[in-house]
Amino acid sequence: MANKEKRILFSSEEIDKRNIELGEEISKDYEGKKLVAISLLRGSFIFASDLVRNISIPVEIDFLTTSSYGDQEETSGNVEIVTDIRSDIEGRDVLIIDDIMDSGYTMQYVIEHLKKKNPSSIKTAVMLDKPSRRKVDLKPDYIGFSIPDVFIVGYGLNYGDYYRNIPYIFTFD
Ligand code: 5GP
Ligand code: MG
Repeated sequence: MANKEKRILFSSEEIDKRNIELGEEISKDYEGKKLVAISLLRGSFIFASDLVRNISIPVEIDFLTTSSYGDQEETSGNVEIVTDIRSDIEGRDVLIIDDIMDSGYTMQYVIEHLKKKNPSSIKTAVMLDKPSRRKVDLKPDYIGFSIPDVFIVGYGLNYGDYYRNIPYIFTFD
């Protein structure tokens, strides 16, 4: 990394502001209802924790871990559930939370997997969306920021084994 420059795309303050807006929007859309928020690990743990703290309706929180074969920067279509949710989502409103939607393979696979558990609705929230990279017909319901095709690091997103804890969103130029 020594020869690469860090370029900040979204500061911690910008991220906080956007999370407040998203939380308000979600709370309004689900007014009078309860939500099951499902955070996809590991990448969304930071975003999910910020987002749910800005949602004012009752939220149950669960986690689902996926893995995908392929190299580090590209998701392949071969998504696998490593650890499933524990809650019973039958007849409930589900919000799937992920860090970023790229090809869309991960989200599509998770949606199909959760549909089998008969929830009454499923929506999706991502902090970052890279629409130009999409391989499936899918658009997140809630988007923090829409971005071009750049490799993102920080705010839950890793580069190798590190950088998930960096509180802002950046890329290496
Ligand atoms: P998709 O299945 O939509 O192609 O990719 C989703 C997953 O790939 C994300 O949850 C994330 O783990 C990883 N990913 C996609 N784009 C990026 C990126 O720009 N940076 C990092 N660190 N991971 C990414
Ligand atoms: Mg991920």
